[in-house]
Amino acid sequence: MPNTAILWFRRDLRLDDNPALHGCLSDCDHLLPLYIHEPEEEAPWVPGAASRWWLHGSLAQLAHDLRSRGSQLLVTRGDSLDTLTRIASATGARTLHWNRLYDPATRERDTRVKQALRAAGIKVVSHPGSVLFEPWEIASGSGEPYRVFSAFWRRCGTRLGECTTLDAPVSLPPAPPLVSGLALDELMLRPRIPWDSGLQATWTPGEAAAHARARTFLHTHAADYRQQRDRPDRTGTSALSPALHFGELSPRRLLRMVTEIWEDPSAEPIEPFVRELGWREFAHHLLYHYPHTTDAPLDPRFAALPWRETDAERLLEAWQRGATGIPLVDAGMRELWELGWMHNRTRMVVASFLTKNLRLPWQLGARWFWDTLVDADLAANTLGWQWSAGCGADAAPYFRIFNPVLQGERFDPRGDYVRRWCPELGRLPVKFIHRPWMAPPAVLDHAGLRLGREYPAPIVDLQDSRAAALAAYETIKGRAR
Ligand SMILES: Cc1cc2nc3c(=O)[nH]c(=O)nc-3n(C[C@H](O)[C@H](O)[C@H](O)COP(=O)(O)OP(=O)(O)OC[C@H]3O[C@@H](n4cnc5c(N)ncnc54)[C@H](O)[C@@H]3O)c2cc1C
Repeated sequence: MPNTAILWFRRDLRLDDNPALHGCLSDCDHLLPLYIHEPEEEAPWVPGAASRWWLHGSLAQLAHDLRSRGSQLLVTRGDSLDTLTRIASATGARTLHWNRLYDPATRERDTRVKQALRAAGIKVVSHPGSVLFEPWEIASGSGEPYRVFSAFWRRCGTRLGECTTLDAPVSLPPAPPLVSGLALDELMLRPRIPWDSGLQATWTPGEAAAHARARTFLHTHAADYRQQRDRPDRTGTSALSPALHFGELSPRRLLRMVTEIWEDPSAEPIEPFVRELGWREFAHHLLYHYPHTTDAPLDPRFAALPWRETDAERLLEAWQRGATGIPLVDAGMRELWELGWMHNRTRMVVASFLTKNLRLPWQLGARWFWDTLVDADLAANTLGWQWSAGCGADAAPYFRIFNPVLQGERFDPRGDYVRRWCPELGRLPVKFIHRPWMAPPAVLDHAGLRLGREYPAPIVDLQDSRAAALAAYETIKGRAR
């Protein structure tokens, strides 16, 4: 009887540097690559519409890559444990491998699956494949998890040389006979009402595109990353976040690509980029050790922060639609809606605006991002929102409130980014592009703009709302952490 191993793909949709795949190859004659679609198992963080769009493309590419190596992806739907039990029994598979994930719902599910299948006599092996270091491997001198990024990353820095990689196999063992699955379209991951033209025009999901994007970035833009990374009007960052989230590219492979060009990842000019991979690690470290932070502030004082009580729904909707009357905020929110992605600088600005100027809970912003980002990632999104709201580990202090006008003038100095996403402001001179409400009537006339008609007047006064946020913060400031 041939030995069949099941390779359970989840958010590791690649053949390169895939430890679970190599684990299978070391003990099988037949390989069964499997994807189980059961989004409810990730509840309450069921993947949003933009993530599902990406997933479809990524699975299609994975199926293609497996076929070209003599294998075949089996796609199914249903409870993971039931499905794995059924398939193991139908194929006689005695071995199951997967790469680990660290979000609370998946960890709980995986533990359950592991226990049940092991009790049924199946060999179950999980592997590290999503991060540079397992979250429990990096600990402070006293054995505690880190809460300060610089110390965490210093510790990781001493171990970057340990990050080895595994090449993609040239060919794969055949799949066992007698198993049939679903066509990818039957998962209905793509929208029925076609809202996705912006995504289609912008992104190519899949492992091959991820590698090509990484190579282009490292050879063309990485040397200028330090200067360009904060400029939403430029192509200064890698846009690899969805590929890293879905595991089309492993962080270890990316680090290896970096060292092939620069040798020392802590040397200029590449250090600032590698440090961002460090933030990704830190996000996973925090989510693993503090799983409650997806919904509750890590700094418990903030549970008592008095959020806005009136008009919240209208203000939230204006923020979501990119109709706040603050150009940089609106540009970011419209970029998000159109591309399923937003530049990091603008993510910080729109998050500060929501949580401080509008005084709406960060959890509302995190939810909207979750539904609209193609790179929606529970670890990074939680870290980003808690950092912006001032209530997370190593967060921006609450009283440091971004001024979106000054941010715009500094990081989008000619207003190109705002003009791209808010074309109705396109004819405003640079001087007023980030503050149209200060433009004299003649300038507005000349630009064909009436505030409240073609473009909204600001939904809040930036100075007054800043003062109100600081006053709200005063009420919790003295509490114990
Ligand atoms: C409010 C808020 C929400 C966010 N939500 C997400 C999210 O859901 N998913 C997500 O991947 N990132 C999130 N980020 C982090 C960051 O904005 C994105 O990772 C980055 O903009 C992606 O663009 P890039 O690939 O060009 O990044 P690059 O600058 O090229 O960085 C390379 C990689 O490093 C990682 N990275 C960079 N910055 C961060 C960071 N601050 N935290 C964690 N990882 C980072 C990403 O994987 C990124 O692809 C959020 C940030 C904020 C402020």
